[in-house]
Amino acid sequence: MGARIIGAAMQRRAFLSGATSAAALWAWTRLFAQPVRADGALRHWHAPADLFTLGVASGEPRPGSVVIWTRLAPQPLQPGGGMPPQSVAVRWEVADDPRFARIVRQGEAVADPSRAHSVHVEVDGLQPGRHYHYRFMAAGQSSPIGRTRTAPAFDADVDRLRFALASCQHYEMGYYTAHREIAHQDIDFVLFVGDYIYETPTLAMLQVRRHQPAFGQGFTLTDYRTHHALYKLDADLRACHATHPWLLMWDDHEVRNDYDGLIDPEGDFPLERFMQVRAAAFQAYFEHMPISPTRAPVGPRAHLHHQLAWGQLADLWLLDTRQFRDGNVCGGASTLWRRRALWRCSEIEAAERSMLGGEQEAWIAARLAASTGHWRFIAQTTQVAPGLFGTPFGSLTYADGWDAFPQARERLMAAIAQPRVPDVVVLGGDVHRHVAANLRQHPRQGDSRIIASEFVTSSISSKGLSELMIAWMKRSNPDLLHLRGDERGYCLFDVTPRQLQCEFRGTLHPVRADSRFRTQATYVVERGVAGPQKA
Ligand code: FE
Ligand code: CA
Repeated sequence: MGARIIGAAMQRRAFLSGATSAAALWAWTRLFAQPVRADGALRHWHAPADLFTLGVASGEPRPGSVVIWTRLAPQPLQPGGGMPPQSVAVRWEVADDPRFARIVRQGEAVADPSRAHSVHVEVDGLQPGRHYHYRFMAAGQSSPIGRTRTAPAFDADVDRLRFALASCQHYEMGYYTAHREIAHQDIDFVLFVGDYIYETPTLAMLQVRRHQPAFGQGFTLTDYRTHHALYKLDADLRACHATHPWLLMWDDHEVRNDYDGLIDPEGDFPLERFMQVRAAAFQAYFEHMPISPTRAPVGPRAHLHHQLAWGQLADLWLLDTRQFRDGNVCGGASTLWRRRALWRCSEIEAAERSMLGGEQEAWIAARLAASTGHWRFIAQTTQVAPGLFGTPFGSLTYADGWDAFPQARERLMAAIAQPRVPDVVVLGGDVHRHVAANLRQHPRQGDSRIIASEFVTSSISSKGLSELMIAWMKRSNPDLLHLRGDERGYCLFDVTPRQLQCEFRGTLHPVRADSRFRTQATYVVERGVAGPQKA
């Protein structure tokens, strides 16, 4: 198994040839690799306005630590955020209580203009399985108070885990009332699996709300920073960050729609230029997210995939399906709808085609084999179960998903099936529809064994496929047990040692400022029995 994966990795011609030319760009910026100096930081200065317009956030809860984040930006839509061009000192405090009567950890961080005056602190020395409150202070101002929590101890007998799964929040396509609801849910964390920002404008007829400025077409660091700031100005999104820790993985729109690893799908940017675009996008993403500074990007590269554990109850891995994937194939005649759909494309069957890259494939296979948790969650960005469109003349394949990487999917399924790793649940987003699915050892073979369960969340706001397309997909793929593209929403999970429950929360598209959510359907998975069942 391992040898097979490594073999595939070594054969990855396309990636390696690209990587060789990209190697010169490795040193394009080593910004985050250098420590910021604290001695010259401004301590006493006059801030022109509210410094904390983008709120606060936390992420990556571990038994003794959590990451807290803010960015100082009195004028968030201006280049530089309205901050002085120097670094400034920021105090941070973590307390047991919301009044900060019992401060348990505190310190000073430096907000530097080279990092858009963002602050990432990995706070350690905390108790496992506890809620905490945190805040930042600079120039005599105090930030809003955030609430977060740590994970239970690795050996803890945990009887319950609750979390929300969300993705795809095109600002112009709807309001973030889902985040308003999630902020009020009694959950341990939010798992967000990509399309946090959209660099693509939407059609005027689909616009529910507008933003100014539009995403800058220079694809510069300033363009990405301004766009992230614009999204964070949404009060519901800020509230959701301030209330729960988040686990984050990016997809394509954080850089460019449907990009494959090193390749600009529109062909506007040659490799070197696209690596600059990717570096700018990666940097701005990191600057706005509660991600551990140990995983900050270095130029156009970042090590975002990682794992977390929730006591003995669950192991969770976040997979990066975007940065390391092989390029699109079958350009030209067999590419319909501007490379969105493939028809009769045998090139996708090539054994060396990878979605995760060889290193990450080997990593997830090894982690699965070593896992001792009761449940195993593989969080990736899109839908793993087949979602083809059948025709009498062969299937249409969505070029951007796992269907276009069938051998890589077989290898991921083999990592679950051989030897048998039980109670695996795959989580995803990206496709703007609620999905519950059986995952078979050999996808698209109806008599193959069901080895895992899959849940894919609909989008927070982005539009989904038409009813016609959804019905066509449902007919063509018997492993899809639940499939709804008409509603926006998120998934609410309730996990115990015996059973997992997924509530598909939904509201009509488009999401209005006063939209309410209801439970569209509920599915359960019994421990020891692969496959979701309707509750
Ligand atoms: Fe999306
Ligand atoms: Ca996407």
